Amino acid sequence: ERVSISRIVDVAIDRNKVQAAAKRMRIIPRVLDEAEVLGSEELVTMAVQNLVANAVQYSPEATHVGVGVRVADGIVEIAVTDKGVGIAPEEQERVFERFYRVDPARSRVTGGTGLGLSIVKHVAASHGGEITLWSRPGQGSTFTLRLPVAGAPAKETA
Ligand code: ATP
Ligand code: MG
Repeated sequence: ERVSISRIVDVAIDRNKVQAAAKRMRIIPRVLDEAEVLGSEELVTMAVQNLVANAVQYSPEATHVGVGVRVADGIVEIAVTDKGVGIAPEEQERVFERFYRVDPARSRVTGGTGLGLSIVKHVAASHGGEITLWSRPGQGSTFTLRLPVAGAPAKETA
């Protein structure tokens, strides 16, 4: 199916609104370009939802999370940015592994299984895309999901 990225971003943000409000956080979408991708609306939504959930979960109260969307060279980039705890360079590869959590003792309090990012990685790969991470401890993180844009639909000719 063809799925609209701006719609996916709206739903993913909406599914995190209770957690964000509880921490007095705002989730701010910044959709510069509209795009459609081919794939599962529910899976891509779940991927973006997981990234936003992490951004909220691993950030202090009253900070903001940005969700940017832009298209370049046939690729749509969905970038989720937080001002949270960040991830040390030596952990950055490992956070995409199943069940891996940076600080199990501390994050046990907040629950979670350590599956979120492994699902994001799987969804990215199964849609022909990728997930990358920029982060600096104490400053924050940006997770960027890149997916190929669906080509123009076949036009009906008269
Ligand atoms: P789950 O998503 O299954 O509820 P989880 O959040 O622990 O549990 P992942 O989403 O896979 O699992 O994330 C793995 C680990 O990566 C987290 O435990 C956390 O330590 C770290 N992490 C993920 N996102 C962020 C972020 N935005 N900022 C800082 N650390 C993060
Ligand atoms: Mg998570």
